[in-house]
Amino acid sequence: MQSSLYPYQLKFKYPFKISHGLRSYTDVVYVKLEHENYTAWGEATLPPYLSETQQSVIDFISAFQKSMPSNNIGDWFDKLSNDQSGNMSAKAALDMALWSLKAQTEGKTIGELLDIEKRGFPLCTYTIGICTFDEMKLKVDDANNVGFEIFKIKLNGENDEEMIRNLKKLSSKPFAVDVNQGWQSPIQAIEKINWLAGEGCLLVEQPMLKNELREMKEVKEKSPLPIFADESCQGFSDIELLKDCFDGVNIKLMKCGGITEAFKMIKKAKELDLKILIGCMSESSVGCSAAAILSSMADYADLDGPYLIANDPFEGMKVEHGRIALHQLRQKIKF
Ligand code: MG
Repeated sequence: MQSSLYPYQLKFKYPFKISHGLRSYTDVVYVKLEHENYTAWGEATLPPYLSETQQSVIDFISAFQKSMPSNNIGDWFDKLSNDQSGNMSAKAALDMALWSLKAQTEGKTIGELLDIEKRGFPLCTYTIGICTFDEMKLKVDDANNVGFEIFKIKLNGENDEEMIRNLKKLSSKPFAVDVNQGWQSPIQAIEKINWLAGEGCLLVEQPMLKNELREMKEVKEKSPLPIFADESCQGFSDIELLKDCFDGVNIKLMKCGGITEAFKMIKKAKELDLKILIGCMSESSVGCSAAAILSSMADYADLDGPYLIANDPFEGMKVEHGRIALHQLRQKIKF
């Protein structure tokens, strides 16, 4: 098994502002695994609010490969699942590439290996960061041209009413909101959620700080809208703790370490009657295509990364008629 690593910078089409910062690009590392005559890709996406860097991803994967005595894919999966070092994005990149290799060597799709139904792909949201009316108009036009049917609006507690007013001037499509921990108290959250329910909002993501679970329980009990955990839901062990505080969870490969862990989390969340949103950290087509495989198990998808990026080196999953559609991954730009 040969691994090659390619650091790269994904440029956003428009600057992306959320409650804890503004960014115009995202660092990533692509990993290419070659085994027998097969080639597989993985992606580690590294938004600046996470602790991993391109160097830490390169160090982790290089050391991982050196420590592997065999080329057996099962041995690589075993070592990855026993790793307790953190490095979630690096692990996600390796895990998705290993799944792709396994599928190719067995002549099946990853969905077939996991026994996931191919029908019923969910609607995918198009994310709009905090922006002016003119910027929002460009983004809404982009989303409409692709055929997105739902928006996800980022709020931060400061100009929430203006953001929603602007959206409603531009579109009558349904929308979700993502507060990224931006509201300050249960009283403020409940007031905002009641107002959003009257505006036609579908769901509210991460209204308050990730550790404020007691406060979130109060919000959930009084909320007319479903509340989803994102920052509060990192890995498998969080799911059980969240069941009384949220109605759903946003599961992302970069948070939990890949397809293997995300699949376990989705099954656990379903057992507990939690709704599922499968999301991304603005990955390119490599990461979003891997997540898209799991999306038919989800209620909503937020895999709009490839549509927000100006220089995606790959193409793969698409949004068609507003829903996720799986397509073969293809490299467009050689490194
Ligand atoms: Mg979120």
